[in-house]
Amino acid sequence: FDYTKDDIRRIAKEENIRFLRLMFTDLYGTIKNVEVPISQLDKVLDNKMMFDGSSIDGFVRIEESDMWLYPDLSTWMIFPWGGEHGKVARLICEVYNADRTPFLGDPRNNLIRVLDEMKEMGFTEFNIGPEPEFFLFKLDEKTGRPTIHLNDKGSYFDLAPVDLGENCRRDIVLELENMGFDVEASHHEVAPGQHEVDFKYADALHACDNIQTFKLVVKTVARKYGLHATFMPKPLDRINGSGMHLNMSLFHKDGNAFFDTKGEEQLSQDAYYFLGGVLKHARNFTAIMNPTVNSYKRLVPGYEAPVYVAWSGHNRSPLVRVPIARGNSTRLELRSVDPSANPYLAVAALLEAGLDGLRNKIEPAAPVDRNIYAMDDEEREANNIQDLPSTLHNALKALKTDKVVQDAMGPHLYQNFLEAKRLEWDAYRQEVSQWERDQYLEMY
Ligand code: ADP
Ligand code: GLU
Ligand code: MG
Ligand code: MG
Repeated sequence: FDYTKDDIRRIAKEENIRFLRLMFTDLYGTIKNVEVPISQLDKVLDNKMMFDGSSIDGFVRIEESDMWLYPDLSTWMIFPWGGEHGKVARLICEVYNADRTPFLGDPRNNLIRVLDEMKEMGFTEFNIGPEPEFFLFKLDEKTGRPTIHLNDKGSYFDLAPVDLGENCRRDIVLELENMGFDVEASHHEVAPGQHEVDFKYADALHACDNIQTFKLVVKTVARKYGLHATFMPKPLDRINGSGMHLNMSLFHKDGNAFFDTKGEEQLSQDAYYFLGGVLKHARNFTAIMNPTVNSYKRLVPGYEAPVYVAWSGHNRSPLVRVPIARGNSTRLELRSVDPSANPYLAVAALLEAGLDGLRNKIEPAAPVDRNIYAMDDEEREANNIQDLPSTLHNALKALKTDKVVQDAMGPHLYQNFLEAKRLEWDAYRQEVSQWERDQYLEMY
């Protein structure tokens, strides 16, 4: 919605809002917020709220720590769960430097920058429809800490007797609808305890805001049921992990730029170039789409997650699928992304890769409509099918070779990301897992 400052002042009064949360997202995709009493509303609306940027990981050093928060008025939302101290509303903000220039270490600002490049190329919108999956685990009754005990044994589209997870998911959907989400579907996923809620696509910026809000709602509602919701990519051994497929389409003033009644498979030339760019950079942007050590435990054969760089219009298994819907629903679906990705960074990288395809007229390889997992290495090589990086380490190495993907992050975010992820990998390398001890302790 396009709220004006006066709209917000009026609604705040009518709804008796007592607190305002000013939210933004850090490098890791974590939501940060500064809460102020409603008496500060005018200051907030006039871009006069300051905060200390040095307290946020990957933001700025102490010497330059004063930063401004500029609220995006279109993100005004009232939380449906109220404290006993009165209603709470939120605004998502852009972070500005002390000198009032946009701070490019703010992933949301960075996405706005990449969207501006897109607009200069004549497109009006990059639409994103995410499919976030998550697990519900029981909280330990004594300590209140999350366990890895599931609360159900259901499976895909199960109609098992209604259980805790089922009720919790319904409540999540109701809360989302209260907050203005257009929920298209919600279902039990393949794995026990695993769920998915799909909401309607939106322009890239608001889709990312929605993902952040969605996670907050899911976690908050789950708590009420004594459950812990996790977006960790692969919480359990030998059970499907959680993905966050991203459906995407470019729009221009006449509608969906990927749709062409006369094109091959009714896809436009632009759709093919965009796809070409996405495939070309796919290995190199994996570190952004799959940013944790754990992400790579999901990207293995046999669990419906992609392992190879390929696309298809028919087969569900490849990295990029072209769902059969046409007209305004014509879209590409990237299936590698997992919900530990920072959505603003993921979408910026995806868009920049696609735009590179358009600028340089990159043709995608032929579609692979066969089951890639049934091919052996020689066959895959003959068909020029590469694999995705198998570890965070390899993904970072690939990222370091790709100027286009680096530019999608901008220097500040890129440097901080690389540094943080290297430390993460180095910490992980030093750990010996139970699997290794079980395997080797007695054998050698
Ligand atoms: P799947 O077939 O992979 O299960 P779903 O039906 O669960 O896909 O989800 C489809 C997603 O794609 C929804 O979020 C929907 O709003 C979104 N979507 C539909 N049309 C477009 C479009 N033109 N651009 C981007 N996303 C779209
Ligand atoms: N959970 C699967 C994944 O890891 C996806 C299942 C599906 O196709 O929805 O991506
Ligand atoms: Mg799914
Ligand atoms: Mg999907």
